[in-house]
Amino acid sequence: MPLPATTVERESSILARYAMHSADSRGRKHPEPEQSYRGPYQRDRDRIVHTSAFRRLSGKMQVFTGDMGDYHRTRLTHTHEVASIARTMGRALRLNEDLVEALALFHDIGHPPFGHAGEDALNECLQEEGGFSHNRHGLTIAEELEHPYPNFAGLNLTHEVLEMQQTRIRKGDPSSPLLEAQAVEAADSMTYDAHDCDDAIKLKLLTMEELAQTSLVGAAVAAVKERFANVTGDKLRRAIQRELLDRQVRDVLATAGQFLTTCEDATAEEVRQMAFRIGPSPELREQKQELERLLYSRVYRHPRLLEMRTGAQARIHQMFDGYLARPELLPPLYRQRAAKVGLKRAAGDYLAGMTDRYCDQQFGEHFATGSKPQNA
Ligand code: MG
Repeated sequence: MPLPATTVERESSILARYAMHSADSRGRKHPEPEQSYRGPYQRDRDRIVHTSAFRRLSGKMQVFTGDMGDYHRTRLTHTHEVASIARTMGRALRLNEDLVEALALFHDIGHPPFGHAGEDALNECLQEEGGFSHNRHGLTIAEELEHPYPNFAGLNLTHEVLEMQQTRIRKGDPSSPLLEAQAVEAADSMTYDAHDCDDAIKLKLLTMEELAQTSLVGAAVAAVKERFANVTGDKLRRAIQRELLDRQVRDVLATAGQFLTTCEDATAEEVRQMAFRIGPSPELREQKQELERLLYSRVYRHPRLLEMRTGAQARIHQMFDGYLARPELLPPLYRQRAAKVGLKRAAGDYLAGMTDRYCDQQFGEHFATGSKPQNA
């Protein structure tokens, strides 16, 4: 069945030539009839939203864990912030907003429990199996682990969404990702730089005054104070979060807009061969790097987070070894998977799917000192 006329007409009337048009999609591995009321990338987005892996992002930490309160971002709320900003930029640059949204909602789906601490631990556990990366695990989720359809494994996403995830894994590719994926990557970086400042102040890991010593936050504070002379405390923190996002979005849109007006006639594929990437201007890039250095040393390496990191990694190592020693503790699906991909990879995939809370609960139940072995 051909694509619905509404999708093709809508896209050809509002998207730039350099956008990824649904009509040029390379389709799905398992051919499926098109739908009358949704284009292919809308369907991808919906497939992603309905996965259990997506829902579990609500129980996975971004930077801060659940026991540090309820204010801070989770992996899920981060994902929504990225999708919101990426869509804004996608629309402004006349890219395919449906594809942008699908890619944004998908971008962190492969994250294991306990953020990068969990990822590093699983990578160590799986060294002999080729390691573990959340980007690669995202593909495994989409192609093997989710199984909403009775006749094949995986979500059967479009070639474009899967290929863009591949570009997050492959390094040193001569061609760039599609502009839609570049917008998501830029939005990811803007989002975490802004919300990590907000969360860190709220959690009192550092002060606004300390952050304002960096040129990016300093300029944001000056701009806010010019508009609202007496704003302080929580009101200032919220205003700074907005200002940081607005500044970055404006900068990236100006830089990208300037370039893209010079290649209005290029196709999505032709733009990929060009050296251009959607991202911050050289000046903003430097400001972001300065801010990220401060966030790294004072927030991501804060003693409270280091303590959490060490504990989570030790538990994951212990659980991984525990599943190898007692594979009967794995759910039936993962025991079956072990026959296909090996016990180590299957145990790693199972662990990667856990939320922070479930991981701790399973640890307490089966592996903590004093816990009763199952079937005892
Ligand atoms: Mg992210």
